[in-house]
Amino acid sequence: MPLATPDVRRHNLGLVLGRVLEGAGEARADIADATGLSRGSVTSLVAELIDAGLVEESDVVAPAGMGRPRTMLVLAASAPCVLIVMLDADHATAVAGTLSGEELTRVSRRHGRPMGDPAAIADVLAGVVDEAAECIAATGRRIADVCVVVWAPVGGTPVRVLADTDLDWGEVDLLGLLRARSAALTAFEEAGGDARLVPDSDVAALAEHAAVGGDTLLYLKADSGIGGAIVLTDEVAGTRVLGAALGHLPVVPDGTRCACGQRGCLVTVAGPDVLLARSDLGALAAAEGLTVALEAFVAQVQAGTEPAAGVWRGAVPEIARTLQIVALTVAPDVIVLGGFAAALAADVDAVFRTIQPRIARAPVLPVAPVVGSALGADAALRGAQRDARMRLLSDPLGI
Ligand SMILES: [Zn+2]
Repeated sequence: MPLATPDVRRHNLGLVLGRVLEGAGEARADIADATGLSRGSVTSLVAELIDAGLVEESDVVAPAGMGRPRTMLVLAASAPCVLIVMLDADHATAVAGTLSGEELTRVSRRHGRPMGDPAAIADVLAGVVDEAAECIAATGRRIADVCVVVWAPVGGTPVRVLADTDLDWGEVDLLGLLRARSAALTAFEEAGGDARLVPDSDVAALAEHAAVGGDTLLYLKADSGIGGAIVLTDEVAGTRVLGAALGHLPVVPDGTRCACGQRGCLVTVAGPDVLLARSDLGALAAAEGLTVALEAFVAQVQAGTEPAAGVWRGAVPEIARTLQIVALTVAPDVIVLGGFAAALAADVDAVFRTIQPRIARAPVLPVAPVVGSALGADAALRGAQRDARMRLLSDPLGI
């Protein structure tokens, strides 16, 4: 009889590898203490991870007092890496990192926002993917996971971009377009890899949740359009993320017609493109890109410069009302604002507090704080890396 079923062994391999990734050098005894596994089990599991090329022994540390010297374990120098590919309204970026999150290479290019032309964007994206893959190959590593993050909703089978208002896309099979152009992606899939396509707000919300904690987190992100997600945690199901199209909540009755067909969506009154146009920053956005223009917008709002400051004052109640509708539905512990709104979260928090429904002066639900993202522009990248690592830890020998 085997001592452990394959599932238990896989789980325990993930536990041990996870400790090696998190630690700054862990000895077998440390791992046994931290995981509750026996020292014999840890020794056997570590041997398997060393054989698989994932873990290696590093320094031997002399004991502080009595006892034997301890051999530290670290992620193997040639262990496979994770490739995160990101497409936003300005840039195509490929970032290769180790399983412990160390960045190995980053290739980024502005794609020039050719509206309604997915093939032109896929050309640029495939270029950065193949360039990053060449850098990885030169280090002797192979790619264990490919995750393509888009600033748009995704769905369907096979998974595709459903619509991208920033790029004027309808349904686009982005993985298919990439596959036809990228030798690295084709090689990865021919070797049995399974490239994934995920919306940025889902993975960014996971990273924010990991950073701030709590059971339920509501995330609203404003950078090109407005997106969002809800992260739920419970002991039975673990952590789950629900996509939430917060930009298309119709918050203004009979408001302006939105590209989605509804009237009065949040993006029509608080979307970055709208705010920049009203603040006379549309030309800057066209010339330098949205990121630069939104930085200028935030700086002007913080300095009280008109018209940006007044435009923002007008948008804040609409954002607060949108958050309120969702907060009364899911009762979050915390609300995190990402994108350019992160720097202006205190304004939203102040208004959010004043509009809470109260009965006998008491709010009908605990009022969650609205805080700015602490992760900044890297939230989606960090979340995608975290997600990839969790997937790989669920079956370390399959890496
Ligand atoms: Zn809409």
